[in-house]
Amino acid sequence: MTRPAIVWFRRDLRLADNPALAEAAASGLPLIPLYIDETGRPESEADGAATRWWLHHSLAALGRDLAQLGAPLCLRRGEPLAVLGALIAETGAARVLWNRRYTPHAIATDSRIKAALTERGIEVRSFKAGLLFEPWEIATKGGTPFRVFTPFWRACLAAPPPEPPLAAPTALCPCPDAPSADALDSWGLLPTKPDWAGGLAAEWQPGEAGAEARLRTFLDHRIESYAVARDHPGQAGTSRLSPHLALGELSPRRAFHAARDKAVEGAGLDRFLAELGWREFCAHLLFTQPDLADQPLRGEFAAFPWRDDPDGLRAWQRGRTGIPLVDAGMHELWTTGWMHNRVRMVVASFLVKDLLLSWQHGAQWFHDTLVDADPASNVASWQWVAGCGADAAPFFRIFNPTLQGEKFDPDGAYVRRWCPELAGLPDRWVHQPHRAPEAVLRQAGLSLGRTYPRPIVDHDVARRRALAAMENCHGGE
Ligand code: FAD
Repeated sequence: MTRPAIVWFRRDLRLADNPALAEAAASGLPLIPLYIDETGRPESEADGAATRWWLHHSLAALGRDLAQLGAPLCLRRGEPLAVLGALIAETGAARVLWNRRYTPHAIATDSRIKAALTERGIEVRSFKAGLLFEPWEIATKGGTPFRVFTPFWRACLAAPPPEPPLAAPTALCPCPDAPSADALDSWGLLPTKPDWAGGLAAEWQPGEAGAEARLRTFLDHRIESYAVARDHPGQAGTSRLSPHLALGELSPRRAFHAARDKAVEGAGLDRFLAELGWREFCAHLLFTQPDLADQPLRGEFAAFPWRDDPDGLRAWQRGRTGIPLVDAGMHELWTTGWMHNRVRMVVASFLVKDLLLSWQHGAQWFHDTLVDADPASNVASWQWVAGCGADAAPFFRIFNPTLQGEKFDPDGAYVRRWCPELAGLPDRWVHQPHRAPEAVLRQAGLSLGRTYPRPIVDHDVARRRALAAMENCHGGE
């Protein structure tokens, strides 16, 4: 009898442009598609609560798609080598195929599994699918890793271009005796008591079809104006592809080529491709600096005197800081599992510089609440905002959240949507209700300290405190 092949799905929950699946389909071997809910991962690589919600729905969609092609998805929970070993023993599988992943624990796990299975005579093959460029393929002329984005992306664009995406298989050969599988519901990925995911369900369609629909909408309506619109959180100016890319429902190659095929050359296209480039850059940073989640890239920040302020952290997490753009962003995050990039930068700067709380608190909260939580992009971006990361703005450049609001949300559309209690304020005061005259507040039905908080810090005072902390830490910049 022909021995089956296992395709181990991880953050590549799609049929199209899935090289491991395409290889298995082309081989004509009986196929066991497998997803493992892996135990033993460190917190930085385990799935946060919002990701678990997404994963549930994405696995359900993938399971339906695979079943339609004839090969049902096998779900198992446990330590991955033990799960694979058991499945191989049960089914006699002789090959295991997967697409590579690039986070430190995942690399160590995959290397260990490959060695152990190869020793048992099992053929293991891995493929590039999650990035446009392998992190080790792009290096400076001196062979060292990049630490600045622009030359990194220039080197990527000078390399052989990403291959065109592969089509989804049209049929799969099932394994005659389908192995037993866990029921998806038994994994308890969805929140209960309370079910806080109503806003996520209203905003997103997890799965490959949802990813493709988002891509089409972006390419048909938004890419041409993207370079400018992407900075305005009150407009639908960006692609919102990040959770689909994070879970691998859409391949970066598909996004890259579809954008190039569809969009006319110009700033919108270049900027979109460069943002895909930032995703690559973050993966490159984590790959070449595996302790990125724990250590600042710039060593002098190791001794930074972060404050300990549980009340401040809680006010930030709940969107009760009294700074409208910050609160609106944190409400958008809590409600939808996503936040606009401009606002991510502002809320992150506020936590790190106005409250002087460590970027790691912010990274952990984002990791748990973002549907696009990605171990590389999240930590690299937090370090970037904090000023201790690669290519970061210097620490002394401190965002003024009120001015950011006035500049990028001038009519207050974003703040009014996510802080409806501020909706009645005129544009002039919507980003600074604490400075509005009493009569204006009364007319807007706003009572500071009751219906909306007063600012928990004065930005000018906080700014001076941050600069002094930096000065004490390492003599300033
Ligand atoms: P678009 O503007 O349409 O960009 C297209 C794609 O490019 C995105 O889907 C994303 O995959 C990638 N991309 C865009 N900007 C960046 C960036 N600055 N860094 C890395 N990749 C980028 N992005 C994540 O995917 N996961 C995270 O966990 C994450 N955490 C962040 C934390 C902070 C503090 C900050 C400031 C940014 C973070 N980002 C993260 C980057 C960025 O905010 C999101 O990728 C973007 O907002 C997603 O929206 P979009 O899909 O509409 O992006």
